[in-house]
Amino acid sequence: MRRRLLVAPEVAQVLQAAHLAQLEGVVSEPDNACAICAQFVLGEAASAVVFKDDRGTLVQLAHPECLSSGIYERPGLDAVMDSRMTSGEGIDTNTALGSRPTSPQRLVFVEMRMLWSAPEADPIEDFANRLGLVPVAGPIERIDPPVSSLSHIEPHEKGLGISHPQGVDYIATELEELTGWLALEASQTAILLTGRNLGLLQRPTLIEEALMERPCWAGTLSLRGFS
Ligand SMILES: [Zn+2]
Repeated sequence: MRRRLLVAPEVAQVLQAAHLAQLEGVVSEPDNACAICAQFVLGEAASAVVFKDDRGTLVQLAHPECLSSGIYERPGLDAVMDSRMTSGEGIDTNTALGSRPTSPQRLVFVEMRMLWSAPEADPIEDFANRLGLVPVAGPIERIDPPVSSLSHIEPHEKGLGISHPQGVDYIATELEELTGWLALEASQTAILLTGRNLGLLQRPTLIEEALMERPCWAGTLSLRGFS
C-alpha cells in the first residue's frame, strides 16, 4: 500500500533532499514504528517528525494522530540514543545473517532503521566507529575490511552478541540458522556490514545496490567463545 508522507514546511527546510528521499522510500514499508506510540504506522499517511537537541537531530515517522509533522525540541536526545545503542535492548535495526563463497564466508548485516540527519554527527558512523568498522564499497564477494581491534562476536542468549568497548549489542537469530552459519567454515571470523536502506526486509535485498550507492561500513570480526 502506498502511504503518503506528511512533511511540514519547516521539516522540509531542515532535511536534506537525500533524507526526504529516504523517508519517501521507507514510508510505505509495513514495519515503521511510530515515534510516539511505537505501534506500526499502517494508515494512509505518516508524519515526518524531527526531534532535536543542541547536538543532534533524529528523524522519525509517526501516526498523524499521534504527532503532526514538525520539529520538536527533545533535550538529552544524545544521551537517550547513546544508552539505547549500548543497552542490551540493542539498536533500532534490521539484521540478517548471510554468506559468500570467499573467506570470510560468514556475513552479518545490520541495517539502521533510525533516520538521522545531523550535519556534524551521523550516528551510523558513530556506531561504525565504535565497532572499528571502515567504509567499504564494491561487490559483496570482494570486500575485505580489516580485522577490528575494537569488537568481536560472541555467543548471546538471543543469538549473536556484538561486543565492543561500550557494551554488547545482540542480533537475534534462530538456533537452526545460527548453527548453519557457524558451520560455514573453520576460520573463526565474520564480516559485519552496516548501512542504511540495505533492504533486508525486501527480497531480493538491496545490499549490492547499497554497496555501490550509499555509505556502508564493514569490519572483519573474530568469533570468540563458540565451540
Ligand atoms: Zn502512534
